Amino acid sequence: MKSNFSVLNREEIIDQLQTTEFDLLVIGGGITGAGIALDAVSRGLKVALIEKNDFASGTSSKSTKLIHGGLRYLKQFDFWLVKEVGTERAIVHKLAPHLVVPEKMLLPIIKNGTYGSWLTSFGLKIYDILADVEGEDKRQMINIEQTLKLEPLLPDDILEGAGYYAEYRTDDARLTIEVLKTAVKNSVKALNYCAVTQFIKEGKKLIGLTAIDSVNNTKFDIHAKYIVNASGPWVDEVRELNRSSSKKSTVKKRLHLTKGVHLVFPFEKLPINQSIYFDVPDGRMMFAIPRGKITYVGTTDTNYFDDINNINVDQVDALYLISAVNNMFPSINLTFEDVQSSWAGVRPLIHEEGKSASELSRKDEIFESKSGLISIAGGKLTGYRKMAERITDLVYKKLKKEYDYDWKSNQTENIVLSGGDFENYSAVQKYNQAIFKQLEQYDFSKLDAEILVHRYGKQTDQIIEIFQQLSEKNFNVRMALAELKYCLNNEMVVYPLDFFVRRTGKLYFDIANIEKVKDPILKEFSNFFKWDERTLEVHSESLANIIFTVSHFE
Ligand code: FAD
Repeated sequence: MKSNFSVLNREEIIDQLQTTEFDLLVIGGGITGAGIALDAVSRGLKVALIEKNDFASGTSSKSTKLIHGGLRYLKQFDFWLVKEVGTERAIVHKLAPHLVVPEKMLLPIIKNGTYGSWLTSFGLKIYDILADVEGEDKRQMINIEQTLKLEPLLPDDILEGAGYYAEYRTDDARLTIEVLKTAVKNSVKALNYCAVTQFIKEGKKLIGLTAIDSVNNTKFDIHAKYIVNASGPWVDEVRELNRSSSKKSTVKKRLHLTKGVHLVFPFEKLPINQSIYFDVPDGRMMFAIPRGKITYVGTTDTNYFDDINNINVDQVDALYLISAVNNMFPSINLTFEDVQSSWAGVRPLIHEEGKSASELSRKDEIFESKSGLISIAGGKLTGYRKMAERITDLVYKKLKKEYDYDWKSNQTENIVLSGGDFENYSAVQKYNQAIFKQLEQYDFSKLDAEILVHRYGKQTDQIIEIFQQLSEKNFNVRMALAELKYCLNNEMVVYPLDFFVRRTGKLYFDIANIEKVKDPILKEFSNFFKWDERTLEVHSESLANIIFTVSHFE
């Protein structure tokens, strides 16, 4: 069946972008933009979305990948934020139970640590109350023996016990893609590699923008009643295009970017039993999260003033994270050489005078320019649905007032995300078993089956169908080819990095596998797009470059 979210549909989509007057045009294909597009289309609006790079290529593939209530915001007395994102966790889990999976978190209490036993117990209790946590998921306080049983690598000489509580983990890029796919199924017109270059005004009011499609290097205009700027760290840059950032407009708000880095180690190098949220000697806290073949740790939180189009992990970042891990797990001696992969992103936070990077609020804010550009920044991956609701409510109010539209309230609490059609998490586990049974004969492990299901949910059936039709003898390569064919036809993959980084996460979670499958995958790209040798070489080089960059530090 022909999907309407394939690179093969680009011309058709561009044609529709040029010939339709949309109710709402969204700039930015991260989680914020994707969430707004789904919310708005599900309320009956005509919606388009453009993304200058690949979908989720900004901050939305560089987070800690937790759908969490943000325990540390309690310390900032940000109760409203904790309540909102804490409640959202369960909703987002329900909408995509394969992709937002329960993850127990251990919070060790150590001598002279950030939180003592009483504060941890009290904090986690408040956390449970604010987020309406029930049953088995409620926090438990455990003693030293119980803690060491759960995690023998913790330092027994300074350990005083632990808090044990429930969170969720996800793959941020895949969550963004699935929200967007669901929006596209509901008729949103979405295009990656398409940047706004200029705004179009009638009198003083915005009526559209000029966009450039960098795949074919063509410029065209898109018209819309309202435009939302959801470009994350680029929000001020886009506002500047419309002349509405701090210096030249009456809207005084501006972004404050802070950088966050994560390092990835082979699981054997940091073999922890479950996720841990632990103290760092400078008073901050950090996560260590085991995930299949790897364990990743993060994050840092430092002011960022450099190029937002090229954010790298440097030696200082890497040393900070490695020292923190070695400090908390005395028998672990990680070195630079153990780092297998890494990622660095920036948080698009709202500037607050006199506040340091980690003191800045994670709350989202909306600001409107006089010409009508609506910008949104701040916020969390976890709260994407609520951010979308606030924006769509605002746009709807305007449409009602100016164009007499009938009001329709938010629908997304009940819109299952693409691939997420499971009754609950037990159904996901049963489906895992069924997929493993089908794949066992081809030498795939339980973990391989689980990785596929967490990546694609029920869409795994389609991938296995493609897999069974292929004749490639090496099963590992055959599976990668099946995934690629699926992603080319259903997930708007344009370049190899879209596949290796955002659709499959292999760059972060299974970098060794890239080496094994890259040649046949690049060949498949070359056949699909009819590349000449030079183009193939260019893509092969950029893949080699990114593999080098994520595992070496300046
Ligand atoms: P982005 O994902 O950056 O999307 C904006 C998009 O706009 C980009 O893809 C960009 O290419 C596009 N764009 C820019 N300019 C243009 C243009 N001219 N034309 C068209 N498109 C354009 N949140 C959680 O809930 N849980 C976590 O565990 C968590 N951990 C985090 C850890 C770190 C280190 C960081 C940095 C953030 C973390 N967050 C977390 C926060 C969360 O990741 C962000 O709030 C969220 O991803 C921001 O999404 P966004 O869509 O606003 O921005």
